Amino acid sequence: MYAVGVDLGATNVRAVVGNDTGTIVGRARARTPQGPTADAITRAVLDVVREACRDASVEPSTIAGAGIGSMGAIDRDAGTVGLSSNLGTDEESLDPIPLVGPLAGLLETDAVVLHNDTLAGAIGEHQHSHPDVDSLVYLTISSGIGAGVISDGSPLLGTDGNAGEVGHMTIDAAGRLPCGCGAAGHWEAYCSGNNVPALARLLAADEVSETETALPLESDDLTAAEIFEHADSDPLATRVVDRLAELNVLGMGNVINAYAPAVVSVGGAVALNNPSLVLEPIREHIGSQLVVQTPEIVCSDLGEEAVLRGALRCAVASASETGEVGEIED
Ligand SMILES: [Zn+2]
Repeated sequence: MYAVGVDLGATNVRAVVGNDTGTIVGRARARTPQGPTADAITRAVLDVVREACRDASVEPSTIAGAGIGSMGAIDRDAGTVGLSSNLGTDEESLDPIPLVGPLAGLLETDAVVLHNDTLAGAIGEHQHSHPDVDSLVYLTISSGIGAGVISDGSPLLGTDGNAGEVGHMTIDAAGRLPCGCGAAGHWEAYCSGNNVPALARLLAADEVSETETALPLESDDLTAAEIFEHADSDPLATRVVDRLAELNVLGMGNVINAYAPAVVSVGGAVALNNPSLVLEPIREHIGSQLVVQTPEIVCSDLGEEAVLRGALRCAVASASETGEVGEIED
């Protein structure tokens, strides 16, 4: 039997077709429509799933189940996802995006599961890399910051399936940087890839401790990647990376104290592209924040495959539960 996993992100929508042992036999990807209508995103998801089925030489109607890991605020009961602050669109204008219903129609199955992307990532990491661990946090530091939590062996859903929005924990009560969610002082507002340049500008404006820099602070094109690249040569870039480390220790300390995981698996481009600058300082200093056992803090093995793998896993499990296929081996 075959199942489909979908990863709907702000930049790309990707799909895989796999069998019940998780072996992937087809895949496809496309750019996520920018400045879209809800309908455009639904269509993009269906198109990518059709293409992945073609790649696998499998008819969509023979697919037994599907799992979706999506950005944004999901509504598991309605099978929709709400607007995302990362989507680069006028947030007020985007209706909830139907995902589960249209995909169930295309695949002719009721076994369609929707999770937020970080929870799908946690399920993927748990199954693939840490199956012997009962409590795991998958933390992404990418354009935003979020977590998926496996607690006592089960995915932590929360109301509507939206637990894990840890990027919106307050780490600066003074609220010096505004967050995309409308509040201020949140972890994501300082340490996500989109916001590292804002942190550089904040530190550069610090009159008590002026720091030289050749970074193009006035340019909208300044990126987190550029700042990390100059961490060992530009005094301000060094200061930014040091401050990021301190703030990430605060953020991750909060997460670890809340969930007491045995493993924290860290993904997202900011962490995966700069493991020595992002993860090493966290490992070194996290102990000072913790009243629970210090977990193993590792780079995600799956990288950007984590969400797809988790979504596929959920699809296989759902197909099994709804009788689309027989019992599967765990
Ligand atoms: Zn926020």
